[in-house]
Amino acid sequence: MLKGKCAVVTGAAKGIGRSIALKYAKLGANLVINYRSSEEEAISLEKELKELGVEVLVVKADISNFNDANNLILMAKERFGSVDILVNNAGITRDGLVMRMKEEDFDRVIEVNLKGVFNCIRAVTPIMVKQKSGKVINMASVVGITGNAGQLNYCAAKAGVIGMTKSLARELGSRGINVNAIAPGFIQTDMTNELGEKAKDAVMANIPLKRFGNVSDVAELAAFLASESASYITGQIISVDGGMSM
Ligand code: NAP
Repeated sequence: MLKGKCAVVTGAAKGIGRSIALKYAKLGANLVINYRSSEEEAISLEKELKELGVEVLVVKADISNFNDANNLILMAKERFGSVDILVNNAGITRDGLVMRMKEEDFDRVIEVNLKGVFNCIRAVTPIMVKQKSGKVINMASVVGITGNAGQLNYCAAKAGVIGMTKSLARELGSRGINVNAIAPGFIQTDMTNELGEKAKDAVMANIPLKRFGNVSDVAELAAFLASESASYITGQIISVDGGMSM
């Protein structure tokens, strides 16, 4: 279904990004996997992906840095000749109630989760416009829609990603480029493992499907959005949250 396509996944070494990279490889895409600090995990992912018979380029880059993000996309283009799919997955949390939130915790979350998405979009747009095709998939979050106490910085960034997704979809629709966002709910990864049992119970009480999500729940949607089956879908924010944001 994605045979021969070039897919760039940011923050691919772990969690949701890793699952998306593996899913894309199973569908035949060549992968550019980006990591920032998880080198060991990135190398083990590279091996797993190659075993699936696809070509892989591993790029260390901090996507919050404009030049790093630009180089990541240019390296993908140079290696594979096109960039067909960009998944803006990399993200961080620095949670805290607003009265105790440090300025640097606000700034860093915005730099990575919002500016980082812009940086990659800015780099890939001229390539996709020239190709007259492309799929951009941004990782938002349920809390970018609902808000969440203790995550003002993260929610602001994710709400920004939603605005960016819709704006870019409007700008690039006439160029054959689809831009969508996924809004995951509570997905079991390192990011959510940090939460205490009490907080997890409170989240569970609001999930109609009565289970936390798996990384593969998100990867399935990312595969659909990257495929031609989703060619008439753009500017959408699609929740994968067990019904949490209803
Ligand atoms: P994760 O396991 O913590 O993985 C996050 C990834 O982002 C890591 O691989 C990390 O790379 C990468 N990253 C962080 N800062 C980066 C930077 N400056 N440059 C490049 N890569 C960077 O988290 P996850 O749960 O899979 O989250 C993936 C995405 O889904 C995030 O955008 C997150 O906000 C979103 N999301 C997650 C949930 C959830 O419940 N888990 C819910 C809603 C949305 P290194 O490890 O190499 O540093």
